[in-house]
Amino acid sequence: MVEVPLVYSDDYYGDLQGHIFPIEKYKLIYEALEAEGCLGPVLKPEPATREQLELVHTPEYLDDVYAARLTHRTLPSEMAISPDIVRGFITAAGGSVVAARAAIDRGGPAMNDGGGLHHAFPDHAEGFCYINDVAVAVSVAQEEGLARRFAVIDCDLHQGNGTAFIFADDPDVFTFSIHQENLYPVKQKSDLDIGLPDWAGDDVYLERLRSAVPDILDRHESEAVVYVAGSDPYEGDQLGNLRLTFDGLIERDRIVLGECRDRGLPVVILLAGGYAYDTRDTVRVHVNTYKVAAGIS
Ligand SMILES: [Zn+2]
Repeated sequence: MVEVPLVYSDDYYGDLQGHIFPIEKYKLIYEALEAEGCLGPVLKPEPATREQLELVHTPEYLDDVYAARLTHRTLPSEMAISPDIVRGFITAAGGSVVAARAAIDRGGPAMNDGGGLHHAFPDHAEGFCYINDVAVAVSVAQEEGLARRFAVIDCDLHQGNGTAFIFADDPDVFTFSIHQENLYPVKQKSDLDIGLPDWAGDDVYLERLRSAVPDILDRHESEAVVYVAGSDPYEGDQLGNLRLTFDGLIERDRIVLGECRDRGLPVVILLAGGYAYDTRDTVRVHVNTYKVAAGIS
């Protein structure tokens, strides 16, 4: 069993006014892990600082975000904006920074019970994402001299378009995305994209993932990994059609986390999306990811 720090704050919650994004999942995951007696050390994040956010985002965009203003830069988020929503996103970005430091410090996995908001671009929001905490965590860790060469393994249902764009010209950060091809977003070019057909299912998905991950980690000589562990490839998801089972998603986690463990790599686990018809299923997928990281599933 591996002790896996979980970064969590009640401040991750913001009232999304009935939006499809189940923001209550953050608290439910925390409570489920606690109830099942498998919760490791809990780290409480502070909101990311403006200086940290400016490593990724433009000042003009951040002015709009901090003011919780609807403008042409914030509107593409497709969700409401308010001071408590903004606080939630900025605190979640702080959480990804804390998880990155913890993972690198320990040389193993650490999970942010939030974040993975990979659609945000430097100068605008997109797809339920205001702050690209994936890129903020990587950039802060680089700035602090903790690690330079990162691989982003993005297994959310949707392509990590914002992250791919942000690191397009950075040879130190390898971006990989495996996603449903015929779906939002308009694709950017990751260093490696695997766009899967609708109804791919466990076998096709896992075969492609299994053949890609070891090669990425070896060829890129990554020092640390960010695992964007979206739960929306799940077969009961409202937004997608990759149709992975619970067991298939556990195997996905084992592939990614096992390849990291075998190489002694720090891995920062971020939650990203998940829109199951029953939010308890979304929670279960994320809880299973934590358990795989901890070696108890
Ligand atoms: Zn997604």
